[in-house]
Amino acid sequence: MIPIQCALCGKKQKIKELYKENFNPNTITPKIFSARRSPDRLHYRIVKCINCGLIFSNPILPARTIKKLYKESDFTYNLESKFLKKTYGEYLKKILPLKNIDKLKILDIGCGNGFFLEEVMEMGIKNINGVEPSIDSIKKASPSIKKIIKNSVFKSYLFRNNSFDIICFFHTLDHIVNPNVFLNIVYNLLKKNGKVVCVVHDTQGLSVKLFGEKSPIFDIEHIYLFNKNNLVKIFKKNNLKPLKVESLKNRYPILYWIKLLPFPKALKHNLGKLLHVAGIGDVPITLNAGNTVIIAEKKN
Ligand SMILES: [Zn+2]
Repeated sequence: MIPIQCALCGKKQKIKELYKENFNPNTITPKIFSARRSPDRLHYRIVKCINCGLIFSNPILPARTIKKLYKESDFTYNLESKFLKKTYGEYLKKILPLKNIDKLKILDIGCGNGFFLEEVMEMGIKNINGVEPSIDSIKKASPSIKKIIKNSVFKSYLFRNNSFDIICFFHTLDHIVNPNVFLNIVYNLLKKNGKVVCVVHDTQGLSVKLFGEKSPIFDIEHIYLFNKNNLVKIFKKNNLKPLKVESLKNRYPILYWIKLLPFPKALKHNLGKLLHVAGIGDVPITLNAGNTVIIAEKKN
């Protein structure tokens, strides 16, 4: 296991332990590692930087091991992706220029099966690119999307510098071993005044308040976890000027919300059956479940 530092304070960090590690690092397989496991969530030892409040996993598995786990992990969020692409699409629309949309060049980092890229394509944007480390995720992409996804972790040499108008990453930044390196590459790839749309979990969100250690955000896939305040700080630190930071409202069918609850499987199953019988399982509900969206711009 590898100790890491606060991504904002570095060596000046003073940390306190929030939760103890709850798994044996020697038994982690790609299947166990993939998100949306149930019933019990695995997480590293979770610490908080006393200087800046950043919450992070520490120590973590070696970066090489993590890379391999992502490569071999399954894509398991098909049900939610059709709802997510609409939610994320609304934020993208807010920053699109009024004309020449077709000429924009856009990148989605950690694009999974490319569900959001499909939405982008429908908006009329033509130069679309995705990066995704999981082989299984790309296999599940539709044929037109598959060919525009690079199978890799995000690296500086994958694309040309100063070439993108918009770079998106949804629930990717909290998975990154070094978010400063990541944001610096994003900065370099963006054109002048290019924009970022990023969604992360919020450590001050409802799920943490309700469920504490049982919140889905404390998860072996997550390295650094942000609140709005330190999310803004890390963007500024990497010369990306925040234009807007707000809580993201997710819209899911009620059955899916229940699936996310940290309750025993049998209880969730019975609840689900009840709603299904009542004929309201598919009713969409909009909730602020503890995600933040930040829109930022490359400073000149
Ligand atoms: Zn710190």
